[in-house]
Amino acid sequence: MSLSQLSFLPYLEHETAKRPKDFIPIYEPWLGETEEAYVLDAVRSGWISSLGQYIGRFEQAFAEFCGVEHGVSVSNGTAALHLALHALGIGHGDEVIVPALSFVASANAVYYTGARPVFVDVDRHTWTLDPEQFEAAITARTRAVMPVHLYGHPAPMREINDIAARHELVVLEDAAEAHGARMNGSRVGALGRIGAFSFYGNKIITTGEGGMLTTNDGLLADRCRMLRDHAMPPERRYWHEEVGFNYRMTNLQAAVGVAQLERIEQFLSRKREIAAAYLAGMENIPGITLPYEQPGYTNVYWMVSILIEDPFPLNRDELIRELRSRGIDSRPFFHPLDTLPFYAEEKPCPTAHYLGLCGLNLPSFPRLDDSQIEYICATLREIAQRSS
Ligand SMILES: *Cc1c(COP(=O)(O)O)cnc(C)c1O
Repeated sequence: MSLSQLSFLPYLEHETAKRPKDFIPIYEPWLGETEEAYVLDAVRSGWISSLGQYIGRFEQAFAEFCGVEHGVSVSNGTAALHLALHALGIGHGDEVIVPALSFVASANAVYYTGARPVFVDVDRHTWTLDPEQFEAAITARTRAVMPVHLYGHPAPMREINDIAARHELVVLEDAAEAHGARMNGSRVGALGRIGAFSFYGNKIITTGEGGMLTTNDGLLADRCRMLRDHAMPPERRYWHEEVGFNYRMTNLQAAVGVAQLERIEQFLSRKREIAAAYLAGMENIPGITLPYEQPGYTNVYWMVSILIEDPFPLNRDELIRELRSRGIDSRPFFHPLDTLPFYAEEKPCPTAHYLGLCGLNLPSFPRLDDSQIEYICATLREIAQRSS
């Protein structure tokens, strides 16, 4: 269903909160004149493929933003995860621990290498990888762990790094949803051996499609650079020691990325304001559990996410339909990965399953204005008060 179709849904009689004119989407990119200017500059320069000044500029600026030495741009976030795993030598016979609650790309990237994703349950509060369950799932075949900073909240990296070090496992951060999130001042992407980001259209900053690896390991960064370009060594053209990939980012994408990165602090502070406005607006609504921020960690609230629980009068899916009829888009949490037909596992992950049923993401894009947040909160409060 298109947005224009949705905006023609009838105005409902029982509505008391003042409804904005337009349908409120869950996310939209914020592109401005600088993005336009840089793209135009890239087009006019003729450097539209994967050579051109914006690539290096974007890689350097993004690495600096994360507080690491190296950034390696790639075609998308899934490619970033796959390339990192491949460059680390993970493949057939290996196991990689992945939280059961994530976007499917986290697990698929492991699967592409021939290794097996092993799903582990998440914490009830942060919704990220549970360190105890992680340690319990380690076997002789385990090579790596992929904490996911879900919806903008960092995974408990201190505990995860300790366990990984004791078992000699590689830590690959899936930071696709958490650009700028912190643990004690350090940014995600700098908290493991290597970090992977996405710049898809609805991520915190976007390049349309795009991704980046971040690391302090220079040899690993060089290996990723070579592998993303058909495994061609920089000093010997058309010679290939091994099978590589075409995972390069274009200069056009990087031009957008450089412009977005110039404004990321503005996006991040607006996103925290939005979260604070939602938290205040949804306080004490029976049956709505608000998002959490663990002490020592900074949530960037990629999505403002809530749980719809007893005694809320509608279940999560009914609420999504009701919100849509009132001009508000919302999204369910991911289906736990171990419930997908091609990953079905016997070991259950009850917390991920529970969250998968009752978790809901609300409109969270940085240009969402205060009156829209007020309308969304008033609508939720009104539904909650109905015949519960
Ligand atoms: C978006 C996302 C990805 C994949 O990024 P793409 O750029 O869409 O390939 C991977 N992991 C998580 C958690 C994501 O949200």
